[in-house]
Amino acid sequence: MKTVTKLKRYDMYINGEWTSPTDGEYFPSHNPATGEAWCEVAKGSAVDVDNAVQAAHAAFLSPEWRKMTPTQRGHLVSKLGELIAENVETLAKFETLDNGKLIREMRGQLQYLPEFYHYYGGLANKIQGNVLPIDKPDMLVYSVREPLGVIAAITPWNSPLYLTTLKLAPALITGNTIVIKPSEMTSASILEFVKLVEKAGFPAGVVNVVTGFGMPVGDALTSHPLVRRIAFTGGEVSARKVVENSAKNFASLSLELGGKSPNIVFEDANLDNAAMGIIAGIFSASGQSCVAGSRAFIHKNVYDKVMEKLVHRVEQIKIGDPLQEETEMGPLATEAQLQRVEQYVDWGLKEGGKLICGGKRPENIENGWYFEPTIFEHADNTSKITREEIFGPILSVIPFEDEDEVIQLANSTEYGLATGIWTQDIGRAHRVSAEIRAGIVWINTYRSVSPIVPIGGSGLTGYGRESGMEVVHEYTQTKSVWVNTSDKIIEDPFKWV
Ligand code: NAD
Repeated sequence: MKTVTKLKRYDMYINGEWTSPTDGEYFPSHNPATGEAWCEVAKGSAVDVDNAVQAAHAAFLSPEWRKMTPTQRGHLVSKLGELIAENVETLAKFETLDNGKLIREMRGQLQYLPEFYHYYGGLANKIQGNVLPIDKPDMLVYSVREPLGVIAAITPWNSPLYLTTLKLAPALITGNTIVIKPSEMTSASILEFVKLVEKAGFPAGVVNVVTGFGMPVGDALTSHPLVRRIAFTGGEVSARKVVENSAKNFASLSLELGGKSPNIVFEDANLDNAAMGIIAGIFSASGQSCVAGSRAFIHKNVYDKVMEKLVHRVEQIKIGDPLQEETEMGPLATEAQLQRVEQYVDWGLKEGGKLICGGKRPENIENGWYFEPTIFEHADNTSKITREEIFGPILSVIPFEDEDEVIQLANSTEYGLATGIWTQDIGRAHRVSAEIRAGIVWINTYRSVSPIVPIGGSGLTGYGRESGMEVVHEYTQTKSVWVNTSDKIIEDPFKWV
């Protein structure tokens, strides 16, 4: 008889308490490497969301949080960074168990994550208002930047802690409180992380986590009347619902959605580096990255050479258990995602794409949601597979003849997230960068991120920016304070001043 092992069970974190769901229900979270459930997560409801938002609102108004100086808030946020640094290995393991991404990628991400907390921790006491050069006599006018209130943070499954951090750190240093709703597929690492939030010493209610599905949890959260800002990362369909919800509470909104980002290789590029950059861009994280470089435009004079380098390396990619150090590509995060990738391969073939390598599940792996790194060659940029975000390990390669043509091809997408440009010609690098419609341009590199650098895009990629200094403005609002410094008696109440 098969022994049934009891799964690890996660409650929600509301008002500083581990809270079981009001409906008493839990749902399984699966390990993509095996396809098996490995833990259970609380299935939140609209009531749980309301409890969390009310707790966050009360914490926002509480003297304990309101009266804390920016320096003190900064110290707390930096402390959280230190605690993450002490717990990298554990957190990385939870992320890999949930999303199937390589342990070495998750470890790398987590080792770097404290930098975000230190960057924002240090920024906390540098957010200033202004004394305004007012054009009226006897007036002193100054502006201060104030927090908004309760922030709703909604994240997808691919990089749970990194994508939460981009919202959490700027929200906290500016004095907001937050309710986090992680992806229903990857809640565990956030719930483990929140133990560190508690340990860092944040007052109860400042950080809350509600788990569950888009409907009803995400829906109830984004339409809640006490939510003042929604920071959303995810797909287009959910984003449209979130935008509709924001019409109910007039919460301000940032949307970080998908991309169909190009890597452009000019004939003067260092071709070895370009090939490595293309591979890193699309096959890291099995293509499940918003900035995945899923289109490669290669100049016709170097096309064959680059293709040879690409295919040679791609055929050596080690696919397998993401917890093994030597693995280079793990599984896709869900079975549905695997089926979606297969569907795109079918469409690619039907629409005349030439399959160069991959295109199927690996034959030597029995369980889990694995797919081979896949390269398609296309004559142009018009087919479904070259235009839509797949979020899987499929690269579309298209040759080009000149700069104008490739700029037009690169821009012929509804997304506007990232672009890689590979060239040794400095003039060309900046000329092309200026013409590209994207929020991030990487020249002779790809996929680098830093707390100092804004991320975001336009079009179907959404709007708003995360990371960098300017994001603090998105988590604050300006208050203008007018002071009459004159001691004259006001004689005419109807006189325009
Ligand atoms: P998804 O849209 O299905 O889910 C994202 C989150 O939204 C989840 O937490 C989900 O529960 C929630 N959600 C679903 N319906 C909702 C609703 N009606 N109201 C509120 N919340 C709702 O996306 P996914 O499949 O988890 O992630 C993949 C997508 O995320 C891709 O499109 C990818 O490009 C995008 N992404 C973007 C970035 C970026 O920074 N631009 C980073 C990573 C991923």
